[in-house]
Amino acid sequence: MNKRTIWIIIISMGIALMGSIILQMYWIRLTLSEQEIQFDREVTEVLVGVVDEIDKRESKYLEVLANLSRIDYEKQSNEIVNQPIEIRLGHKKGAYFIDSLLKKAVNKLGAGQSYHYGVYADRDSGFVVMDNKFTVPSLSSSRSKSKMSGGLYSTHYKTDLFPNSIGSGKLYLYLPKRNQIIWSDLIPYAIGSLLFTFLILACFAYTIYIIQRQKKISDMKNDFINNMTHEFKTPIATISLASDSINNPSIITNPDKVQRFTKIISQENKRMLGQVEKVLQMAQLEKKDLQLKLTDINLHELLQNISEHVNLQIKGKKGNLELALDASDPMMQGDLTHISNILYNLLDNANKYTPDIPEIKVSTRNINNGIEISIQDNGIGISRENQKFIFEKFYRVSTGNVHDVKGFGLGLSYVKVMVDAHHGQIGVKSILGKGSTFNLYFPKRQNKNA
Ligand code: ADP
Repeated sequence: MNKRTIWIIIISMGIALMGSIILQMYWIRLTLSEQEIQFDREVTEVLVGVVDEIDKRESKYLEVLANLSRIDYEKQSNEIVNQPIEIRLGHKKGAYFIDSLLKKAVNKLGAGQSYHYGVYADRDSGFVVMDNKFTVPSLSSSRSKSKMSGGLYSTHYKTDLFPNSIGSGKLYLYLPKRNQIIWSDLIPYAIGSLLFTFLILACFAYTIYIIQRQKKISDMKNDFINNMTHEFKTPIATISLASDSINNPSIITNPDKVQRFTKIISQENKRMLGQVEKVLQMAQLEKKDLQLKLTDINLHELLQNISEHVNLQIKGKKGNLELALDASDPMMQGDLTHISNILYNLLDNANKYTPDIPEIKVSTRNINNGIEISIQDNGIGISRENQKFIFEKFYRVSTGNVHDVKGFGLGLSYVKVMVDAHHGQIGVKSILGKGSTFNLYFPKRQNKNA
């Protein structure tokens, strides 16, 4: 998949996600306002019901009174219309009556016990009843912002009390949990859609990450194949040239020249063998069940042997390899082939990536019941950014001046896997342009159960 396609997918997915989030928000908003309208309608119905009951109660009272005192009902009611509202309600009893009606109705709304009510007297321009308590209107207004009934002043829920007589008063109802009640039905949906959106977002991000990673790996594999072809082409061409030359009648009779050409053939052959060995090392890593053949290894001896080998190349560049083998106990348990390959790869890199005169130092010391080996060079160094990736398979630093150094990007990943298999550690310290130090640590013994 090329970069353009990936970007098109990312942008389309981004637009689709944004669109679905906006639609969901719009839908939630719409449902919320419908819920609000519905709830307000229900509350208004409650208030109208309560006021109705109060009316009926008064009518009944007047009837009883009329019966008792044989005073005309009409007259009674004309008289009572002019009474202050608190008297018409029947003082405390009236307040309790309203309260009990409201309690039932509010409970039905699902608003719990949480409500405040007040009776507003038009004549006094203030509340005469607040939550079962009678108040003096002038005082009630000074207490108007009292915590308990503060919401009463701003509530939208109010209905005329005794609506058939003019200028009596109003019943106010305040529900502090109004918004919670309205939201409570919606919250599961809102959380659900939020959660699913996040899930989609997470999966999407992960997919993109995987695509990018796969792309990187496939690019690296391509590089590897190009590299390998290149690496094999040179020795093959050289061998071909050399053998053609030997067959040349003027040369075949000259033993010195024949010897020179066979030496070239043998050298190039060794080089190819080395390359094949590297690829094979990696192929071996692909096998899941890595079996180490553990033996006791004298690291100092091993380092001296390998150094001799690498030293030829270092000397060829007029460089120097210094061994500071300071560990008092050079013995460790490990697989000789793999430990040799590890050390060889690191020393080979130290030489390969030092274009000028190599000054390479190998030192050892005993720490933490094991041995530490440091391989220091004065080469091109590795930037901090690249240090994170050099142990990955096929990874090669792709800066201009590294290109002339041949490699598959397999050496360090092999090293890392093998160090891990030996329960060891590897780290790198490097400054770009100054040089690198690879620090290795191996425990003295390999735990059989590990
Ligand atoms: P290869 O050497 O075959 O490319 P490696 O896995 O051995 O692969 O190394 C990975 C990369 O790490 C190299 O391409 C190189 O850029 C960088 N590298 C490794 N060792 C050194 C070193 N001693 N100095 C500078 N760069 C190094």
